[in-house]
Parts: sequence; C-alpha cells; structure tokens
Amino acid sequence: MMIFECPLCGSSTQNAHGLCSECDALLPRPLRPCRRCSAELAAQGPWRDYCETCLLAPPSFDRCLTAFQYVFPVRELIAGFKFRADFAIGRTLALLLAARMANAWSDAQDTPVLIPVPLHRSRLRARGFNQSALIAEALAAQCNLTVSRQHCRRVRDTHSQRGLRAAERGSNLQHAFALNNPDLVYPHVVIVDDVVTTTATIEEVARLYRRAGTRRIDVACLARVS
Ligand SMILES: [Zn+2]
Ligand SMILES: [Zn+2]
Repeated sequence: MMIFECPLCGSSTQNAHGLCSECDALLPRPLRPCRRCSAELAAQGPWRDYCETCLLAPPSFDRCLTAFQYVFPVRELIAGFKFRADFAIGRTLALLLAARMANAWSDAQDTPVLIPVPLHRSRLRARGFNQSALIAEALAAQCNLTVSRQHCRRVRDTHSQRGLRAAERGSNLQHAFALNNPDLVYPHVVIVDDVVTTTATIEEVARLYRRAGTRRIDVACLARVS
C-alpha cells in the first residue's frame, strides 16, 4: 500500500488519488449541472435539466462531464498543475475525474477515443507540456481507453482567451484547429480539457469532429466555470 501526502493539508493518506478523505469530501463537486454542458443551474428556475444556452442553441458536443466546479480550492489546485508544473496535483485531479467517468460510457456503442485539446506548438514549447494531454493519459490508464495525441492539432496560436467576450472568443477560435488525418473517422471521441470556461474551445473542436463524421462527441474536463 502506497502512502501519499495530501497536497491540501499535508496529512498522510492511502487513497490512490493522493488526497485525504477529508479534503476530498470538501472539494466543490457539481451540484445541479446542466445535463448537456455541466454549467451549474440556478437552485431555482424554470429549467430543470438544461441551461438556457443549451436549450436555445445546443452545442456540437453531446455531453460535457466535469469533476469539479471551478471555484476555490480547485481553481488554485489547477493553477498549481498548469503554471507550476505540479504533476502530483495534476494526477490527483485526473484520478478524481476518472472516478466520475467510471460508468459514463457503459451505454456507448463504440469505445471512445480520448482527444486532448491541443496546444499550439509555440505554447507547448513555452510551457513544456500539454496539461490536457497529461490528463488524457491518466484517464486512459484508469479507464482502459486510448489517447490520440496527434489527430487534432492547433494550427493558429489564439493567444489567451482571457478578457475576450464570449462572442469574441468564438470568432478568435475559428479555424484554430485541424485534423491531421481526416480520413480516419473515430465513431466516438471524448475531448479532454483542463478547464471549460465558455465552451468556445470545445465547441470548435467538436464541430471539427462532427464535420469529419464522428457520431458521438463527449467532453471530459477537470472543472467547469459557471
Ligand atoms: Zn487533506
Ligand atoms: Zn448547458
């Protein structure tokens, strides 16, 4: 049995994901997520299952699964993984997402292939790793799935999406991605991202796969901004 040091409180634990049970129980799970995009729905309101956006303009993906809400302390944990290369935290979060995904595709006709959202090569060079690819590798190992790292590539460096309004984010991302081998059609893909903010990025990747003929497109992310 391995002993891990909980990254949040420092106590030792035998939990394989590395977080002690007390901290695990405190992390902000989705409470009332939209069944399509996982945005948190207001506690009261006329829509029970879907958010207004998904009802009015359904996204190109079938379903987005998230492990957490993007609030304290998950926000800070993801920042540690992404910007300070804390891979132990990245592994912990990915294993907790894998637990959430455990039976997600038991009804699926085809075994899904994981597609990490690619970084542009200049960004990859600067950071040294693609956080989404590392999450996808951890999910694949846990859930017995395969990752296709090279199939989708980022052809334009879209810089930071921060500070752009939702509509601007969409147009900023147009033609930002391309498929390396369009003749290879996966029947079912799961796009893997670290944080889903406005869905502009995953929408762009999902559209690409939809056009290529993929029938089922899901998304898995560590955290969803609502
Ligand atoms: Zn702890
Ligand atoms: Zn929604």
